[in-house]
Parts: sequence; structure tokens; C-alpha cells
Amino acid sequence: MCAKSLDKLKKIQKSHLCNRCGTCVGLSKCKIVFADKTGKYRPVVACEIDEELADTLLEACAGKDFSFPKYTELFYKDTEKFHTYIGPYTQISIGHSTDTEIRSKGASGGIISAVLIYLLESGKIDGVITLGMSKKEPWLTQAMIATSREEIIEAAQSKYIISSVNEILAVSSEFKGRLAYVGLPGQVQSIRKLQAMNHPSVANIEYIFGPFYGNTLHFSSIKSFLKTYKEKDYTQIEKLYFRHGEWPGNMRIELKSGRIIELKKFHANYLIPFHILKNSLYCSDLANEFTDISGGDAWAPVYEERGKGFSMIIGRSVKGQHIIDEMVKKGLLVANPISEDEAIEMHSHGYDLKKRGTFIRIKIRKFFGKSVPDYGYKVEGFTFGRVLMELIISTMFVFLGTSLARWFIERFSPEFVGNIFEKTRTRWKKSTHNIKRNKLN
Ligand SMILES: Cc1cc2nc3c(=O)[nH]c(=O)nc-3n(C[C@H](O)[C@H](O)[C@H](O)COP(=O)(O)OP(=O)(O)OC[C@H]3O[C@@H](n4cnc5c(N)ncnc54)[C@H](O)[C@@H]3O)c2cc1C
Repeated sequence: MCAKSLDKLKKIQKSHLCNRCGTCVGLSKCKIVFADKTGKYRPVVACEIDEELADTLLEACAGKDFSFPKYTELFYKDTEKFHTYIGPYTQISIGHSTDTEIRSKGASGGIISAVLIYLLESGKIDGVITLGMSKKEPWLTQAMIATSREEIIEAAQSKYIISSVNEILAVSSEFKGRLAYVGLPGQVQSIRKLQAMNHPSVANIEYIFGPFYGNTLHFSSIKSFLKTYKEKDYTQIEKLYFRHGEWPGNMRIELKSGRIIELKKFHANYLIPFHILKNSLYCSDLANEFTDISGGDAWAPVYEERGKGFSMIIGRSVKGQHIIDEMVKKGLLVANPISEDEAIEMHSHGYDLKKRGTFIRIKIRKFFGKSVPDYGYKVEGFTFGRVLMELIISTMFVFLGTSLARWFIERFSPEFVGNIFEKTRTRWKKSTHNIKRNKLN
């Protein structure tokens, strides 16, 4: 056994560097397991691992390091445009699927699902690695291989609890046929590392897609949400949605008793500071920079007022952009190009969080002697005001993540807290407008 690699891996697994992507679980064929998915959701080494495997798992782990410049160079040689915040790209557009079912079932414009269905139905792929809800434990997510339009639509929408898509590598590597893959930035980065290593587990992955990524939450968010509605047993959940109904949608829980609990997505955001996975705060990739196509919400009043669902679509690789162009030509997709500046303005809040906040938080973490991720680049030169703002936010996250703060907030109705949260957030966004946009471009 290679004590060195295995020890390093175990340290990462126990720290905030672990993004729970699931690669170490999938590739170890269950020698590493997620012991407690409704708890801390940490990978744990369950039986002896040989030296070669430990080395591979450590190399494939994107939690400790992922060189953005190196992998941009490797995978996007033919992509002409690049911005530090956005990553490599060919075209940025605002749009949606023209299929009303896909659009309404998708998280925003149904772009990702539409692309997947198009690739499948045109014979360019044979299956899709995607994230659905578990049939056996419907309160948990589960990675799956979808091979039909129905399965892709069933797995649509964003899931805001920790999910480990790459666990599926144990199964997907045996799949006979070409696959598309959908994942969050940390998961995608690990897939890119495996591709660079020429690892057989990813040899059948032809396309990589993924949503933008602000943050994800511990399962405690679901337990806490239920508690506020006086429901204590999460195993009574029959269906769990995070973006149900018209865009931007509602968090919705259907219980075995027939009771339905629903809360506006913007109000359910109150759960974020209490249950955020701390690794989200050390991830510097908002726009899923290492995909072929990535998609986010088109957050702008002009689209939000219209409802129905609008996405920001980033065609990155040449083959990714080619799919978008083909689908637009065939009338399957609406994709109206926008400029780099417009794209940054639309997500300036998120870019501030990921491209500035993350690097300040990394510095703070390093100051306390903790291990930090190495992304092969740094964003530096922040104003005193911005650093101070980050110190306040980081302190707030530590305080609100305690059991006492969670217990306290559970005494109030989520509608009430959500409303206050939305108003405070809007006020905070306005009051920090200048700090955040200062030199953002
Ligand atoms: C955890 C999380 C955080 C996000 N944060 C932001 C944000 O800050 N700003 C923003 O603009 N957009 C964010 N998004 C993206 C946004 O919610 C939509 O997913 C995106 O706009 C694509 O919409 P769509 O209708 O094209 O996707 P859909 O057609 O609904 O397809 C979504 C695809 O993503 C897969 N998927 C869903 N959840 C996960 C997950 N947790 N892990 C891996 N795969 C998943 C689904 O299985 C499906 O294949 C986030 C998404 C997630 C999952």
C-alpha cells in the first residue's frame, strides 16, 4: 500500500478540500464509500487499497489541485476566446429550448436537457450520465445512465444537495456505447483529469456538459426545512424538487401522507448560509469552465419578469458550439448571442463570489495554516473594502453554520425567514454594489 498517497487522500477527504465528486468511490469499486449521505457525506476508506490505485485516485482528485491554465491549454486549443471569469468560450447566448415540455421541466431554459435529447435522438451518443432522484430513497440524488428522452427529462432540474455524480464511473466505464456526461465544476474537473491521464474509466465519454455552480447544501438543509413545517421524518419524502413549476420555480416536497410543502426558490435560498457545503466557498469556477457547453440562469429583470425559463448558454469547445448552431438551425433552440460584458454583468454577483471571494477565502485559510487548493492561477489586488466584506461574510457563514443558529432559525416559518432573507440579500447586494463591481471587468 502506498501510505503516502493514501494518507494524502484521506486528509483531503476529511477536509474542506473534498468536493464529494465521487471519483475516489467510483474508481475504487467501493473500497471507498460514502458512509453517511444524510449526514456529513464524506468518503471513507473501507478496505485496503493498493499502491497503484491510491496514486491514481490522488492524481484524479480535483479538490486539492486543478490547473486552470494547463487544462484550458489541453482541452481548448481551438477555442479562440477566453476570460478569467468565464473561461474559454466560443459564444455566449441567452435562450431556451423550443420544446415546451423540456423548457418547463428544466431548471431554467431546459438547454442542457434539450442538448442531451438532441444528441441521443440524432444517434451521436447512446446514453447520458446524469443526476436523478433515487427511486429507493427519494430524498437522495442518484447518478444514472439515461438512455431515453423520458429519463433525461426525469433527471432535469437542479439539485441543491450534495451529490456525487462520479460514483457512477464504476458502472459507466462498462457501458457499451458513447456517453455524454453532466456534472458540476468539481466533478467535471476530475473527469478532465482522468481524460488527461488517458484513464479507461472515461474512454467512452464524448461530451461534457454542466450547470453553473454557486453552491450546494448539506442534507441537513432538507431536515431543517421539514422541521420548520413540523415534519421530523425525512424518510416520509416521496418526491423532492428544488425548482418545481415555472422558472425560477419552487422547492417542493411531497410526503407519503399526501401533504405537499412548497416554497419559492428565492425564499428557500435562506437555507444557504445555514447549510452550505464549505467546499463551495473554495471553488473558483462559477460557469463550469471545462465543459463543452455550460448553462446558467439568465438572471436579469427583463427575463425574470417573463417567467417560462431563460438560460445563459456558453458554447465552449468547437464541437460544443457546433451542437448549439445545429440545434438553432433546426429550430430546437433559441440562442441569442450576447457580449462578454453583458454576461459578466448578469452574473457579477456570482463572479464576485467565485473569482474574488474564493481567492480571499483561500488566503484566509492559508493564514490559519490549513491546506488550500491550487488552481494554477490567482486573482489578486483587492480593495480593503472587499477584503473586509469577505471577512464579515466568512464569519457569518461560520456562525450561521452552528447547531445553535440552525435551531434558532427553525423556530420561524420559512415564508417569513425567506422573505426577510430575500429583502436583506437585495439590500446587501445594492449596498455592496460598488465594492463588488469595482474593477470587476
Ligand atoms: C448545485 C447547483 C448550483 C447552481 N448555482 C447556480 C448559480 O449560482 N447561478 C446560476 O446562474 N446557475 C446556477 N445553477 C444552474 C442552474 O440552476 C441550471 O442548472 C442551469 O441554468 C441549467 O438549466 P437548464 O434548464 O438548461 O438545465 P436542465 O435542462 O434542467 O438540466 C440540468 C442538468 O443538470 C443535472 N444536474 C442537476 N443538478 C445537478 C447536480 N447537483 N450535480 C450534477 N448534475 C446536476 C441534471 O441531471 C440535468 O442533466 C446551479 C445548479 C446547481 C445544480
